[in-house]
Parts: sequence; C-alpha cells; structure tokens
Amino acid sequence: MKLPASARFSTVCIHAGQEPDPSTGAIITPIFQTSTYVQEELGKHKGFEYARTQNPTRLALEQNLAAIEGGVAAYAYASGMAAINAITTLLKAGDHVVVTDNTYGGTFRLFDKVLTKYGLEFSYVDTSQPELIEKAIRPTTRMLFVETPTNPVLRLTDLTAACEIAHRRDVRVIVDNTFASPCVQRPIEFGADLVMHSTTKYLNGHSDSIGGIVIAAKQEDADGLKFIQNAAGAILSPFDSWLVLRGTKTLAVRMKQHNLNGQMIAEFLESHPKVTKVIYPGLPSHPQHDLAKRQMKGFGGMLSFEVSSFEEARRVCNSVRLMALAESLGGVETLMTHPSSMTHASVPPERRAAIGLSDSLVRISVGIEDAEDLIDDLKQALG
Ligand SMILES: *Cc1c(COP(=O)(O)O)cnc(C)c1O
Repeated sequence: MKLPASARFSTVCIHAGQEPDPSTGAIITPIFQTSTYVQEELGKHKGFEYARTQNPTRLALEQNLAAIEGGVAAYAYASGMAAINAITTLLKAGDHVVVTDNTYGGTFRLFDKVLTKYGLEFSYVDTSQPELIEKAIRPTTRMLFVETPTNPVLRLTDLTAACEIAHRRDVRVIVDNTFASPCVQRPIEFGADLVMHSTTKYLNGHSDSIGGIVIAAKQEDADGLKFIQNAAGAILSPFDSWLVLRGTKTLAVRMKQHNLNGQMIAEFLESHPKVTKVIYPGLPSHPQHDLAKRQMKGFGGMLSFEVSSFEEARRVCNSVRLMALAESLGGVETLMTHPSSMTHASVPPERRAAIGLSDSLVRISVGIEDAEDLIDDLKQALG
C-alpha cells in the first residue's frame, strides 16, 4: 500500500505512516509493548534498539502526524505540556520568546514558573496585532509562540503576517494548533517552523488519552526534537500512540461534524434572547471572521458565549443535562466549562478582563452528537 503523492487530507489521515505488520499482515499497527529488541549480531539490528529511543507504534503515529501537518518529521511526547517543554529545550539561557498573551494556562505556568528559573525570558503580547509582535522582538528573541484561536475568547493571529515578521528577524515560529486541529488549519502552509498539539484533544478525539506531538518543518529542528525526546525521555507510550493513531483515522469526518455542529449552535445562541454575546470564528459578528475564512477550513467546535451575569452563567452550567460540565475539549462528547472559575481561575482578574474573559462567559467544546439534541439541551438550560 503506497500512498500516492497526490493523496488528499482524509486519505493521508487514514494511511500515512501505516504499513500492514510485516510478521502477520495485521492491517492495524500493533501495540509494540516491549522495552528492548533482540539484535542479530553485534551492530546488526532492525533499526530498533531500546524502546525509549525507538518504538514501532510510536513511529507509525509520528509518521502519520508529520504527513497530516505537512512537516518533515514529528515526535510524540507524554503530554501536550511535555511537547511544549521539549520545544523550549531548543533554546539556551538568555534567549527570549514572544508568546500570545492569552495562551493556554499550563503553557503560561511552565514558561513563567519553571523556565524563567533557567534564564529564558518571555514577553506576552496580543499577537492578533502584528505590529505588537514586531515591537516585542529583541536581539535575543529566538521564538514566537502563537496560539490561534485562543482559549476561551477565540482571538485569531494572522499566521502569514506573524511568520513574515518573525522570519525577517530570524525568529522561529511555533504554533500550538490544538484548538483548530490540522483539518481546520495547517500552520506549516503559512510558514510556521514547528507545530505542536496536545493530542489529548481533537487528534485522539475520544477523551481517553493524554499525549503531545511536535511536527517540524525543517530537518534541523527535527533532529533537535528527536535528540531531546530520547535524552529527556518524556515519550508517548505504545498504547497511547495506538489510541491516537486510531483517532487520526476518523479526524476528517469528526471535524466535519464538529464544524457543522459548532456553526449550528453558535447561530442558535446568537438568536437566543438571554445570550448577550457569542464568540465563534464562523459568525460574521466575529471581529476576525475574514481572517478566519482565509486561514481556516471550517471553524472548529470551540465557542464561547456570554449571559447577563455570573449567577446566570452558573445556572446554565448547572442546568445542562446532555452536555457535561468538565475541563478539556476536542472529544466526541460536548463539554461545557466556566473559564473564569475553572480553567482560568489562576489568571489574575485584571488579566482576564484585559483579554475579554468575563465571569459571565461560558465555553462549549461542541461534540458530534445530533446538533438538535444539543440545541434542545441549551434551550432547557437557558430557559
Ligand atoms: C490541553 C492543551 C495543552 C496541554 O496539553 P496536555 O495534553 O493537557 O498536557 C496545550 N495547549 C492547548 C491549547 C491545550 O488545549
């Protein structure tokens, strides 16, 4: 089974990096649950020596995701945070990183509470305004770390503009593409050097695994990531690799439904008298709807909305029946969160206000149930 160079997205998701198992013909890459590999003689082996360094199940996933994001290679880590940590080890003390200001809370915690101790410096800017990126770049800046859309206010960064500014100053661009998924947005096509995902979310898609991946556009970065994966050892397990591989096979069809349901629910909420504001890149009312149309293929399953007060937001969160009140996102089941008291509780109130995250904001990770059932649930919860 040779994948033709012209293969399109769904075909790549299902077939890239996957060969029938040579020993049995099993169509699915087995879970190679082994720590070591027998060598035929000194210096002669099949490319696998020790399972922290190489594992066939992990390798199949890495080749699959490299093809899906259009990179040269990918490396899988134990979590999304371990993947981000691996990227930062490409830096050295004294280097500076420009970061999207309302980045994922765990990313901010790693940068601010851990990596500053090792002499790395970070500036947090609103990367939706390219001129602010330009202003923040210093002679020591080595990376621009972008998240688009952001959580939970779904602000977008123009990837073409951001890459152009960064590359002019010899700064690598890293995109956390977790929220969009590669089905909706492929940052390497816009010039990104590295793309990372928490595979925990859309890539695995079934809320049953924690993992992370980094895809490199250039061989030089790929070599650095491979080295650190083995040297620091935060590898993805064979079983989790197998789960994510199963997930990517249905990525394209799942995302189609996430996109459809997201749009339907956003439109329903926008028409509801108790909802004061809806934030979804697929709505013409989104301030960056034109950019979303240029940069994204479909608008994903993440949306946020505001009601009249914190009390009302609490009542809605406590009243949903089909939707589950839970952190995380990107699974087949619909989840609701109240960011200011859940995922973003550790963000100081002034900072929350600055990014437009009010106490009356509710976030939904729209799943792939029948949209009508989700709308019925929202109707009763709002009613
Ligand atoms: C969840 C998430 C992460 C962290 O991933 P884990 O797998 O939980 O370690 C990073 N970035 C974004 C945007 C996320 O949603």
